[in-house]
Amino acid sequence: MKQVTIEDKTFGIYLSEQEIQHAVQRIANEINVSYADKKLVFISVLNGAFMFTADLLKKVHVPCELSFIKLSSYSGTHSTGNVKELVGLNEDLQGKDVIVLEDIIDTGLTMKSILDQLNTKQPASIRIATLLFKPDSLKVPINADYICFSIPEKFVVGYGLDLNGFGRNLPDIYQLI
Ligand code: 5GP
Repeated sequence: MKQVTIEDKTFGIYLSEQEIQHAVQRIANEINVSYADKKLVFISVLNGAFMFTADLLKKVHVPCELSFIKLSSYSGTHSTGNVKELVGLNEDLQGKDVIVLEDIIDTGLTMKSILDQLNTKQPASIRIATLLFKPDSLKVPINADYICFSIPEKFVVGYGLDLNGFGRNLPDIYQLI
């Protein structure tokens, strides 16, 4: 089995580059149909969603804009604990159709925080596209509209996802073994 070692941890191949591209094409097709007569704003969550975003957008054929956001644990000089502030979004979203692009939804807390903050900007609609979804880990209800893969509660790396900053460059997805 194809394996990689990152930070002394061994991972085995879980989803191949080909399987990933196939799934990304599938959700791009769904988006192309759903938004055929519309314009879209994609909001990609850094760092993990960078590779998924690049591949997906090459397959989307409706007029679209792209913004990148990050979540920061700090607001000003005071730590806000678990409340993560969204940084990097300067666009006016009022009346626009938005799709948020995430690498993985685990507990769903990150996505809930993103949605709460995006909703204050009064977009016409918000949908979620995620590369990976761990349904058994979910702690808050999140309705992901476009899902490439639903996976079990095991730690994964590659294709944008990291372990302590490493592994994001891998074209396949690996699972801890
Ligand atoms: P949530 O708020 O949904 O629990 O977590 C979302 C974030 O947790 C993701 O954006 C990602 O950074 C991290 N995460 C959750 N599960 C995994 C995993 O299996 N592998 C990696 N590399 N990161 C994960």
